[in-house]
Amino acid sequence: MKKTLLPLLLAALMLAHGTAGAWGFFGHRTITQVAVYELPAAMQAFYYRHMAELVRQSTAPDERRNDDPTEAPKHFIDMDHYSEENPFGKVPKQYDKAVEKFSADTLKKYGTVPWVVLETKDNLTEAFRQRDTLAIIKYSAELSHYVGDAFVPLHTTINYDGQLTDQKGLHSLWESQLPERFIADYKLDGEPAKYVKNPLDAIWGVLQQSYGFLGETFDRATKIEKTMKPDVRFTFSHRYGKTTRRYSDAFADAYEKEVGGMVDFRLKGAPTMVSSLWLTAWEDGGKPNLNELMHPPKLTKEEKEKLATELTAWKKNTLAQDQLLLAQQKAKKVEVVDEIKPAKDMGQAPTAVRETVPVEPVPAPAVDSPTPKIDKLKVKSKTATGTEKIKQKGDELK
Ligand SMILES: [Zn+2]
Repeated sequence: MKKTLLPLLLAALMLAHGTAGAWGFFGHRTITQVAVYELPAAMQAFYYRHMAELVRQSTAPDERRNDDPTEAPKHFIDMDHYSEENPFGKVPKQYDKAVEKFSADTLKKYGTVPWVVLETKDNLTEAFRQRDTLAIIKYSAELSHYVGDAFVPLHTTINYDGQLTDQKGLHSLWESQLPERFIADYKLDGEPAKYVKNPLDAIWGVLQQSYGFLGETFDRATKIEKTMKPDVRFTFSHRYGKTTRRYSDAFADAYEKEVGGMVDFRLKGAPTMVSSLWLTAWEDGGKPNLNELMHPPKLTKEEKEKLATELTAWKKNTLAQDQLLLAQQKAKKVEVVDEIKPAKDMGQAPTAVRETVPVEPVPAPAVDSPTPKIDKLKVKSKTATGTEKIKQKGDELK
């Protein structure tokens, strides 16, 4: 692999991120990378050429939460706010109809992820229509993020961190600690991308499945709590002058035995939906010849060999063992924590997904151009296609 400053950049991002976020950075990156392997040949070369950048940008929506107050609700939808019994029959799928029934303010408060997925997919379609490489990469990465979020059960409930059931910290345990700890046991060989006739219906289907897993998500943790003492359940760490509490490795191991199959199922399902929506946007955008956007226009021999190796590993489910996941390539030890021995209930759980994550000062990465290939391209990056549009639409969603 070409040596770039990517690891450094990722390290900086890890610092900025801390422990919060959907799927953690690890999950979002992995979903994005695997989605590239599921694409048809007509799209794969382009996406593989830009895979590192796609993976990097797949966490951008979490990174901008601190600066953009409109960002947070885009990552979830609290279905049980609307009804504990069959909320999916009560919330209209169409945004306009949902606004009519519940008001835009209410939707904003309890999350807008299904509509944000649709809007990002539409932005991606437009980017393909414009043959705008930068916008294609940006919206592909962000689509991967929001779709990934929709696959996480805890993104569909007001009890998103277990905070209402005395299980605070469950969010990060489920979507960060388990995947990072057990990735080598998980299977990632999902289905090839398929055209999605109705993306809004599809994402609602994903959310309904996620919601269906909530009972187990909480109950299995409760089951372990019955046999594991509180002082074994948690680990406390001091970081930046704050004490945070997280579930211990012992708890994570026990929880993995209970819900690992579910976490894997969601982590494997997400890339298939992501690649399918990429494919759908490409077809809806007039199937532009992506090789014409590549410079050089085809994968080099070296790139082809590398891709072949990765595809084989992906099919054999050895990407993690072979250290081929870009998410594994972060700096070895980024977070400086002094772990202290587990203590009884004290301190706080790590900041969960909806709270503001304090951004620690991050050294500006000394990167001239982490993606030289993109910079060289002649693309319509400053037109009103991408950023402008999503902003306007984003405002409407408020
Ligand atoms: Zn998110």
